[in-house]
Amino acid sequence: MSDRIYNKNQIVRTEITDINEEGNGIGKTDGYTLFVKDAVVGDIADVRITKPKKNYAFARLEKLIEPSSYRREAPCPIARACGGCQLQSLTYVKQLEYKANKVRMNLKRLGGFSEEELNRVFLPIVGADNEFRYRNKAQFPIGKDKDENPVAGFYAGRTHSIIPCDDCLLGAEENRIVLNTILGFMKKKDIPSYDEESGCGLVRHVLIRKSRENGDLMVCLIINGDNIPFESELVHELSKIKKVTTVSVNSNTERTNVILGDKMRIIYGSGRIIDSIRIYEDDLKSFSDRKVSFGISAKSFYQVNPLQTEKLYSLALSFAGLTGKETVWDLYCGIGTISLFLATKARKVYGVEIVPEAIEDAKENAKRNGIENATFYVGKAEEVLPSFYESVCADEDGKHPDVIVVDPPRKGCDEACLATMIKMAPERIVYVSCDSATLARDLRILCDGGYNLSKVCPVDQFCQTVHVESVCLLVNQNVKSKTVCKRWN
Ligand code: SAH
Repeated sequence: MSDRIYNKNQIVRTEITDINEEGNGIGKTDGYTLFVKDAVVGDIADVRITKPKKNYAFARLEKLIEPSSYRREAPCPIARACGGCQLQSLTYVKQLEYKANKVRMNLKRLGGFSEEELNRVFLPIVGADNEFRYRNKAQFPIGKDKDENPVAGFYAGRTHSIIPCDDCLLGAEENRIVLNTILGFMKKKDIPSYDEESGCGLVRHVLIRKSRENGDLMVCLIINGDNIPFESELVHELSKIKKVTTVSVNSNTERTNVILGDKMRIIYGSGRIIDSIRIYEDDLKSFSDRKVSFGISAKSFYQVNPLQTEKLYSLALSFAGLTGKETVWDLYCGIGTISLFLATKARKVYGVEIVPEAIEDAKENAKRNGIENATFYVGKAEEVLPSFYESVCADEDGKHPDVIVVDPPRKGCDEACLATMIKMAPERIVYVSCDSATLARDLRILCDGGYNLSKVCPVDQFCQTVHVESVCLLVNQNVKSKTVCKRWN
């Protein structure tokens, strides 16, 4: 094989035939692969080589020769510079096809599942009705423009410079009013923005959360210090904005890119907003009369796309196939969102989560909903589950699971956790995943350990981005298959 065949800055004409994991277009010329930023599958384009390697190169779109029929004008004017929405230039239908395909390909390549098997278990991806304005949480960094005025926006790529933007099309329209109030106040009172490079200045970020249920808004200012000058005046201005019900200040004096610091001070309202997640009927078309309510603080982990979360959790609940008699374990339970959903239909639910504050939230949320059949443990799933399994009286107190639900972070489940799940042999395992590569790895382990993959359903929680969520059902090979989800049978 020859050494690199292209040079930096060289312009090459290529047809984009696929999209990679990061959302870049893939083009091929004589077996040499190009990963092209801002190109869309179906484009014929001139691309500029930015980083040549031996057998492949990174490139960016220079000139569109023939635009793809899947291409659309990105609705957000700064989509390209911001980079948060890798797929905005792709039609939504094509985005869904790309995501479903990504899950399918990972299960095939990394999980070793055959085409035949996948045809049998793979369900159509659940798309969103609102592909924009879906996020209930926004975190805007605060900086200054060239005239030293405070601005809100997004970090450009991996840099410290802020692209001014007071409206992200994925977030709530109200964010703009909140931001402009804060920026106007900072300007009027000469309150400085934080400067990442020098570590000086005060206001670092503004975090805004919105309740889907009642539209209430929570505002949290993250500052490099403990106090904001003229705080009560600021509270007064923010509280005049319709629906702002609580304001807090978070102190973060560390030189870090972690947004929130440890210290929280509530300066208006309760520090929480209330939201609820409605439970769909099995057909995912209409809501049942049940919902679960949650108290959310600035620090709580809470799914960012509330309308799609209702579909995701309803599918998980439906796959769990509960009749009211079951004991269910919900591993990686966070603030108990899925656990409390399950508790509406199970005999008993046990939730396990590593973050103690999340478990405090989970317990409070159980109370809020009058749910008494859910118990929560703080700990690592891979330690709590095995130690429970090894305890002598395990079976006597009815803790043995009929169903285990897992919703791990991107790295997937720990091997010890999977091994114990296999030993415990629940009838069904429901796997909720935000990373189809680790999902594929874990499904293979579970299938080799005695489970049949029965359903895989991708759900689009993060429209415009390359991320995709999936819900899977595994059934123990010793259990005759049951009808568990009317939508698909
Ligand atoms: N099911 C929840 C949270 C999912 S996110 C929801 O949908 O809201 C994954 C969760 O796993 C996070 O809350 C994280 O804190 C937790 N976690 C990460 N590693 C863990 C481990 N080893 N054991 C238990 N929980 C863990």
